[in-house]
Amino acid sequence: STETSLQKEDSATKNAKGFKGHDMLSPFTTGWQSTNLDPLLIERSEGPYVYDSNGRKYLDALAGLWCTALGGSEPRLIAAATAQLNTLPFYHSFWNHASKPSLDLAKELLNTFTATKMGKVFFTSSGSEANDTQVKLVWYYNNALGRPNKKKFIALEKSYHGTTFISASLSGLPVLHQGFDLPSPFVFHTDCPHYWRFHLPGETEEEFSTRLANNLEKLILKQGPETIAAFIAEPLMGAGGVIPPPTTYYEKIQAILKKYDILFIADEVICAFGRLGAMFGCDKYGIKPDLVSIAKAFSSGYMPIGAVLVSPEISEVIHSHSNKLGSFAHGFTFSGHPVSCAVALEVLKIYRERNIIEQVQSLSPRFQDGIRAFSDSPIIGEIRGTGLLIGIEFTDNKSPNDSFPPEWGVGAYFGAECKKHGMIVRSAGNIIVLSPPLIISPEEVEKIISICEKALKATEERVKELKSQ
Ligand code: PMP
Repeated sequence: STETSLQKEDSATKNAKGFKGHDMLSPFTTGWQSTNLDPLLIERSEGPYVYDSNGRKYLDALAGLWCTALGGSEPRLIAAATAQLNTLPFYHSFWNHASKPSLDLAKELLNTFTATKMGKVFFTSSGSEANDTQVKLVWYYNNALGRPNKKKFIALEKSYHGTTFISASLSGLPVLHQGFDLPSPFVFHTDCPHYWRFHLPGETEEEFSTRLANNLEKLILKQGPETIAAFIAEPLMGAGGVIPPPTTYYEKIQAILKKYDILFIADEVICAFGRLGAMFGCDKYGIKPDLVSIAKAFSSGYMPIGAVLVSPEISEVIHSHSNKLGSFAHGFTFSGHPVSCAVALEVLKIYRERNIIEQVQSLSPRFQDGIRAFSDSPIIGEIRGTGLLIGIEFTDNKSPNDSFPPEWGVGAYFGAECKKHGMIVRSAGNIIVLSPPLIISPEEVEKIISICEKALKATEERVKELKSQ
């Protein structure tokens, strides 16, 4: 019954196309998609472009899943992976073993993160594993300090922190909870800091931030500060709809957390490595976290790798207490995987050598202005973002309260139009996300803008049609 008009058309073409199906239980895929549609089979990539099995070329304006910052055919990364595969394809990092790339990468990462001093790095294979690790690190830390009741977490509504049991619990998107008996009872969610959608009439951005910080304090006091271990947030919220923090938000939030001895975990999985025009979201928004999660562009998507950066204080407690609590029995077979680490090390070198931050800063004004020029469209409510990241939200009457009905599939229609014109974007409900590889050229920025313009015109027509039905 919730099938959109677009989905109905897709289903109708199913037989004509000779659908064969496949054997994967695909992530984030609904039944109607996997039963009615062939997958979009992507076969190869070149710079910011990907090619499907019919040889069609698409500008990948989502950089895979916000990760292929260096595009899809960087020879230095292929060389780094090959060299490491030839030398040592695998060794683990349990029981104080290590490979050289893992040690070098940990050092390099600590040098790269300068928002505040970090002490140690824990490697994972993904962002979800990084956030899972965060919770266990924080619990271990509080157990070590003799504070067994300080275990609760506060996260933001609409946040995305992953899909493992714990990271999905931290996430504040209902779609990640329903059907999975989540979130776990130790997680509490507080206001999403989306000014346009949630501010009160007449409230300034700063007043909005103050109100949200006050609400956070109320939640802490209600639960008891001695029970709250940590607060986790994405510096700029990604999958929840590209939501930059309102002015003074993090200043006010950090003051409250400090007051009650609550740790700040920055989930930089999308923001890190230049996406926002700064090396990290923490640099951009003045965040001084105790713990940081990274993944995605850490290897430019070439190998699975994530990491947790741990403050000197927390790593010191974990080290000095691990005899009392038993060894720090946490880790993955692939923690510090030599090939992933060798590739990530080369990625960090390339970001530095090619001045990736300056590159983003030089492209972003035209990227942001070009897309924001569509703000007048009667079907667009808000366009938001920074650097090479932008979100377009479709609504009726320019109002956050008049979202188009999900069954109209407005975002999906826009996404399908982009695909027709050779570009992949993310469409989630009424929100479109553009997060292209950081290596795109000024000409490719123009191409993104002009395809969006065409897709927008078609979507405006479509909405007119749907309204008149
Ligand atoms: N945190 C954030 C902010 C993310 O955007 C994501 C992935 N979209 C994750 C964590 C989870 O990362 P992964 O998919 O690598 O587990």
